[in-house]
Amino acid sequence: MPPTTSSFRPFFTQNSRLLRQPFGAAPRRAEVMTTQVAFAAAAVGIGAYVYMRTGAAAAPGTSATGTGSDSKPYFSGFGLRTLKLHSSELVNHNTKKLRFELPDPSQPSGLSLSSALLTISFPPTNGRWTPVVRPYTPTNPLEEPGFVELMVKLYPNGKQSGYLHSLKPGDTITCLRIPEYVWQPNKHDHVALIAGGAGITPMYQLIQGILGNPEDKTRVTLVWGVNGDQDIFLKQELAELQSKYPGRFRAEYVVSQPEAGSTYRKGYVNGKALEELGLGANDEKNKNVKVMVCGPPAMEKALKGGKGPFANKTGVLHELGYKPDQIYSF
Ligand SMILES: Cc1cc2nc3c(=O)[nH]c(=O)nc-3n(C[C@H](O)[C@H](O)[C@H](O)COP(=O)(O)OP(=O)(O)OC[C@H]3O[C@@H](n4cnc5c(N)ncnc54)[C@H](O)[C@@H]3O)c2cc1C
Repeated sequence: MPPTTSSFRPFFTQNSRLLRQPFGAAPRRAEVMTTQVAFAAAAVGIGAYVYMRTGAAAAPGTSATGTGSDSKPYFSGFGLRTLKLHSSELVNHNTKKLRFELPDPSQPSGLSLSSALLTISFPPTNGRWTPVVRPYTPTNPLEEPGFVELMVKLYPNGKQSGYLHSLKPGDTITCLRIPEYVWQPNKHDHVALIAGGAGITPMYQLIQGILGNPEDKTRVTLVWGVNGDQDIFLKQELAELQSKYPGRFRAEYVVSQPEAGSTYRKGYVNGKALEELGLGANDEKNKNVKVMVCGPPAMEKALKGGKGPFANKTGVLHELGYKPDQIYSF
C-alpha cells in the first residue's frame, strides 16, 4: 500500500519556497536548474502524450459551458491548471471520489464531452526527478459549475493513484485538459459501452452527457466487468438513470469472481456474454452502433485483438461482426 499520510505533498506545495522567492532574489543555481529541467522534460513528455491521444489540438466537442455564469471556463485554452481538493471519500474498498474546487464556485469547467485530465505530480516515492503523469476522467456532470470530480482506483504501489489517495482537503494538484472522443449527439442510434474495473469512469462521463442532453436520443448500453462484487461503485447512480430513462439506458454487470449468493452475472466480458446481453453486431437493433471500450490491458486485448494497425481485426468484437471503425478505445 502506498503511504497515505501527508508526507505526500503536492509539487507546488513542496516547492512553494522557490515560487515565493521575491522577484530578483537568487535561488540556488542547482535548485533552479533541477526545476527548469524537470519542467522542460515534463512539457516535452506531456506535449507528446497529448498529441498522441488527441491527434494534435483536437477541436472541443459539445462544451459544457451552459451554466449561465459569466466566468470564463476554467479549462478554456491550453495550459496547466491547479485544482484544490475539497473532499475525498472512499466509494468502495480501493476507490476514492476526489472532489476538486474551481477558483470561482460559479465557474464552468469548460470540459467537452468527452475529456480527461492529465495529472502531473512529483511524489517523493517516485524515486526519479521526472514527474508522474497520468490521465483521469472527471465523473461529475461536465456542466456542473465550480467543481471537477475524479474517481481514482488505488493500485498496489501505484505512483499517481497512491499520491492522489494521500491528498487532504486543501491540497492542490496540477493538471492539463485532454480532449478524448468527440461525442456527436444522434450520430449513432445506439452506443455500447464496455468497461473493465476503473474503466467505468469515461463511460460514466458519457452516460451522463448523453442522457443529460434532451436533444440527444442515442440509446446507451453499459456492460461493466469487475473482479468481485465489492469492486462495484456508482450502482445507485446507474440504477437511478436506468429508471429515469427506461428503454434508453441499461447497465449490466459481469463479475468474474462473485461472492456466494451474488445476483450478478458470473464470468468475463466475452463474446457469449455480449451476445446474451443483446450486443451481437448482426442484431438488427445494432446496425448503427458505436462500441466503446475502456479496461485493463488483458480485457482490451481479448476484445480488440492487436494494437495500432492490427486492432479490431481479431478479438471478440471482430468475431461478433463489428467493423474496426465501429470501435473506439479510450
Ligand atoms: C484516458 C484514461 C483515463 C483514465 N481515467 C481513470 C480514472 O478516472 N480513474 C482511475 O482510477 N484510473 C484512470 N485511468 C488509469 C490511470 O491513468 C492510471 O493508469 C492508474 O491510476 C495507475 O497509475 P499509477 O501511477 O497509480 O500506477 P503505476 O505506478 O503506473 O503502476 C502500479 C502498478 O499497477 C499496475 N497497473 C497500472 N495501471 C493498471 C491498470 N489500468 N490495470 C491494471 N493494472 C494496472 C501496474 O502494472 C503496476 O503493477 C485512466 C487511464 C486512461 C488512459
